[in-house]
Amino acid sequence: MNEFFWMLLPVAAAGGWIAGRHSFNKRSTDNLWNHATSYHRDLHQLLTERQTDENNADALDFGQLGSVEHDAAETHLALGNLFRRRGDVERAIQLHGSLIDKAELSDDLRAEARLELARDYASAGLMDRSEEQFRELLDNDAHVAESYENLLLIFERASDWNRAIELAHEYQARCECDLAERISHYNCELAEQARRKNDYQLVESKLSAALEIDSHCARANMLFAELALERSDFQQAIEYYEEVEKHSPELMPEIISPLFGALEQLGDSERLRRYVDRIRSRYNAYSVIKTTRDMIENLDGPEHADLFFKEQIVKRPSLKGLRDWARGQLKHSRSGERGKVAVMCDMLDSVVEDKPAYVCESCGFGAQTLHWRCPGCGSWNTVATVIGAEGE
Ligand SMILES: [Zn+2]
Repeated sequence: MNEFFWMLLPVAAAGGWIAGRHSFNKRSTDNLWNHATSYHRDLHQLLTERQTDENNADALDFGQLGSVEHDAAETHLALGNLFRRRGDVERAIQLHGSLIDKAELSDDLRAEARLELARDYASAGLMDRSEEQFRELLDNDAHVAESYENLLLIFERASDWNRAIELAHEYQARCECDLAERISHYNCELAEQARRKNDYQLVESKLSAALEIDSHCARANMLFAELALERSDFQQAIEYYEEVEKHSPELMPEIISPLFGALEQLGDSERLRRYVDRIRSRYNAYSVIKTTRDMIENLDGPEHADLFFKEQIVKRPSLKGLRDWARGQLKHSRSGERGKVAVMCDMLDSVVEDKPAYVCESCGFGAQTLHWRCPGCGSWNTVATVIGAEGE
């Protein structure tokens, strides 16, 4: 009996508290209920509204949507994001903008609303306004990394590389992160812009800046090598390409042809032979094998070249290798078989053409040419050559 009594005590206490609270707060509960009903009615109106034309956009007063208590503010934020995702950016801007203006909003929620408003403006293509909101966040020390990333994205999309460099240095200093690779690419972008305008002095200075920031920057070395080839400075070009090979061997398919070309132009056949011997079994990439095969043919004749090629494509099977080998068999086929081999070559051609030669390691975006910045996700240095049976 005693035990039962002690067990009932907390239940009785809770019942008493609820009863007391009910009578004491009856009025405020009624208010809350009316408020919630009105809030949900407005919310329903907002959600079922299909389009905002100019008239009803003005008629919707987001500030009247219930109280801006914590939960309601979070609902507004989520709603705004929903509108943006479904393409109704105008309404997202109104919703997030009205939240920022609420005096009673906490600093955290105001910063959250500002971040979303900045994204809304970016989605609407209003980059100046978006930048303004991100700058405001940085001034308030809120969402710092996200604001820097988004601002860099705005400058990258506008190809405003000078501002991107300035901001990336600021970001690096403030967040103690390493943006060397990215800043080097920005300098390479400026170098390419200058090259299109034939301003070679500026090209050189921007490429030097890129290498100063990231001494292994393959893109800067490749551009320097191209400039050296243009002025027939083959020795210099080879040195730049050797830097690329040393620090970014995955880019060998990109540089193998001009590198062999520069070695040939030097006219030093011993050096060329030493280079071929050094790389002949070193790389898996098919285009490296194919170019090396052609070089062996020039140096030692077709028999040695075919022997090397056959060995390599058996060791490192690939669709491209099979296609080229089959194409090589065409000239040796008897007239009755030639048609069948040609059909097989055509089939392999279409299979190879369907396969992306490059894939982004970050988002899986496939491409036929090398991109320093992924067109899919905007990451730098993530698009790589596909190595293996279906790729290089
Ligand atoms: Zn990507």
